[in-house]
Amino acid sequence: MKQIIYVIILSILLSTACNSSKKINIRKILQDNRQTEELEAQFFDVSKENKQGFAMPGLDHGLIQSPINILTKTVEHVDSRTITVRYKDEVDAVANLGHTIQLHFAEGSTIMAHEKTFQFKQMHFHTPSEHQLDGMTYPMEMHIVNAAEDEENGRIEYLVVSILFKMGEENKFISGFRDLIPEEIHSIHNIQSGRVRLSDLLMVPRKNKSEEGLYFYKGSLTTPPYTESVHWYIDKHIYEASPEQIKTIEKFEGHNARKVQEIHERIIEDS
Ligand SMILES: [Zn+2]
Repeated sequence: MKQIIYVIILSILLSTACNSSKKINIRKILQDNRQTEELEAQFFDVSKENKQGFAMPGLDHGLIQSPINILTKTVEHVDSRTITVRYKDEVDAVANLGHTIQLHFAEGSTIMAHEKTFQFKQMHFHTPSEHQLDGMTYPMEMHIVNAAEDEENGRIEYLVVSILFKMGEENKFISGFRDLIPEEIHSIHNIQSGRVRLSDLLMVPRKNKSEEGLYFYKGSLTTPPYTESVHWYIDKHIYEASPEQIKTIEKFEGHNARKVQEIHERIIEDS
């Protein structure tokens, strides 16, 4: 019998609670985002998008674009794949970037996968979800974005963990920062250490086997320049947030989901 040894070690490294709130500069975060884009632009010609101000779907992009609609009955099982998540559970800021709500961590959180160590960058929301499961769009999706720089060619590879939300119970993790989201676009609020914990979200017990594990595929960023260097991991468990919490995030960022892209020759795997 085919044994599935898909192991996910989620070790949330709880940091010592510290009461001092750190100063984070919104300019630095915006600058960091710009630097990433500039770095990517060195490898990809995005002039067409720049001229038009938008990207034509299906044109000028490669064959491994994201998001996709995952047909759960057609995915292929993998025998062995391990990702090791080490999140220092220290959310220290929430930013209103206009197009999304973004949370920042203290440095030092990593994911080890594909023989690389990815550094945690940020996490942000999409309303409604970008990925679909069997054609179903969910009201919200969260992306935990991690990046690793290839030492040989300087290119950046991403690993994004996707969390899908349905409407249901109030979510403790979202409650922790909901009232701290700045009203003003391009502004940021510091968060006192220990107030918002990713473990409150991820450590929920799975009700049955089908909710354990992840879907995996190779794809792209879902915003320009749509770089095709993303290892996507979509959590099978559908998380809950209250309708009011989802509406609040949607109010800030509007509809910011890219439409689903063709799968082409890709194989989607699962645990
Ligand atoms: Zn995203």
